[in-house]
Amino acid sequence: MTQEELFKNLIAHTKEYGFIFPSSDIYDGLSAVYDYGQMGSELKNNIKKYWWDAMVRLNENIVGIDSCIFMHPKIWKASGHVDAFNDPLIDNKDSKKRYRADVLLEDYIAKIEGKIEKEVEKGRKKFGEAFDEAQFRATNPNVLRESKKAEDVRVKMNEALNANDLAALRQLIIDCEIVDPISGTRNWTDVRQFNLMFSTQMGNTSDETGTLYLRPETAQGIFVNFLNVQKSGRMKIPFGIAQIGKAFRNEIVARQFIFRMREFEQMEMQFFVRPGEEMKWFKTWKEKRLAWHLAIGLGKENYRFHDHEKLAHYANAATDIEFNFPFGFKELEGIHSRTDYDLRRHQEFSGRKIQYFDTELNASYTPYDIETSIGVDRMVLAVLSSAYKQEKLENGEERVVMKFHPALAPVKAAVLPLVKKEELTNVAQSIMKELSCDFNCQYEEKDTIGRRYRRQDAIGTPYCITVDFDTLTDGKVTLRDRDTMAQERVDIKELPEIVNKKVSMKRLLEQL
Ligand code: ATP
Repeated sequence: MTQEELFKNLIAHTKEYGFIFPSSDIYDGLSAVYDYGQMGSELKNNIKKYWWDAMVRLNENIVGIDSCIFMHPKIWKASGHVDAFNDPLIDNKDSKKRYRADVLLEDYIAKIEGKIEKEVEKGRKKFGEAFDEAQFRATNPNVLRESKKAEDVRVKMNEALNANDLAALRQLIIDCEIVDPISGTRNWTDVRQFNLMFSTQMGNTSDETGTLYLRPETAQGIFVNFLNVQKSGRMKIPFGIAQIGKAFRNEIVARQFIFRMREFEQMEMQFFVRPGEEMKWFKTWKEKRLAWHLAIGLGKENYRFHDHEKLAHYANAATDIEFNFPFGFKELEGIHSRTDYDLRRHQEFSGRKIQYFDTELNASYTPYDIETSIGVDRMVLAVLSSAYKQEKLENGEERVVMKFHPALAPVKAAVLPLVKKEELTNVAQSIMKELSCDFNCQYEEKDTIGRRYRRQDAIGTPYCITVDFDTLTDGKVTLRDRDTMAQERVDIKELPEIVNKKVSMKRLLEQL
């Protein structure tokens, strides 16, 4: 099965089992907007809790806030979003489809990189044990030629983007002979800038003064509360402010399911440090954030850093943590050294002094800031796509199983009376009542036990607990493990501890 087919199956699976629905489904959906169903919301909440606890609970010097989506319109002037939160847009005149010019070029570069990797694989097969990859990459003429080609395009693209030279960007698309994937033609319009912020009106005025923007990032809600939090929390530099919340972007090309949405959620943390110390903290946060990802076990080989060459107007260093999604390595999280840009700009635009008095240095300064910013929905997609497994069983049957880390699984245990007889359902319900105080559990009495196991596999429940007639005499139940499908008899009294050991968030947090 190709990656594409697998991805399609995953999307269908998430709808069938209540993870993710297209928004406004009965009205045929709304482009790039999705709702979370009963399983998806649990999964998403667990991911958010893991992030929040890792930030706010495990770091004494990080606190969490919840600021509003609506903010004073001047904030977006100060942050630079009104003038510079643009994407370069290009249309194909034949297909009438719209693309981001930089994404067309990045896809082109990715194709060349794909060719290079194929070449390296060929070399590996040919030379076997004696294969020296570094030497091969440094000397093979095909690899060298393709690497140079990719590098040339990358350099030219970054130059054009940095200089805001839209004509050069278009020329590069023409020179690379990039065709529209739908029409197959090179009939491109000029490249134009397109602002990604949604606007709306507050109150009953329709003039400029009533225009508000739906926030395109949660970060600004943190910057404008810097003084409030620092003073009320008596925070000492270095310290961080974390927040989880909705953000909105009028993305030009919205595709790849919940990877790029127009309404999405971010988990952002701004860490304020002394000027001059930002590079040390940038490095620290790169390491800390990667450790957070690795703890959930999606595989080290599926992550990589991508350092930015083109820096945003506010940054002096930036990297992405990229994840190997079903459609290749793409940005999952951004880590940026934002300098003192935001606080300085808000000082300028608000007229309020935003400074910190450092008692150790006996001096006031505008703190520098390291930002870690991850999309909740992209994280959900990373977790869903890694968890989704189609397995052939020994008896020839197939099962679809979501192999979530137990701490993230939406349902922790399913309580199943073997048959729907009162003496069994009574015991099962009392187990359910006990476990539900600590864990999200499901009670199911319909269908054969095999079908119930399959349904629980499909939503990724780590444990199934079956109550049978022996339970009535020995006080034991059958505990079935999702991954190994092994079954063991355990005492009812031991259940809370066994389940807790398996699904506790502590298992993840301890690794950080
Ligand atoms: P991209 O280059 O993919 O558009 P970005 O660099 O604009 O992303 P940031 O502004 O750094 O993204 O936002 C931080 C994080 O927010 C991203 O790493 C991503 O996880 C998430 N994010 C950004 N835009 C979207 C979106 N449209 N849908 C879902 N998540 C998003």
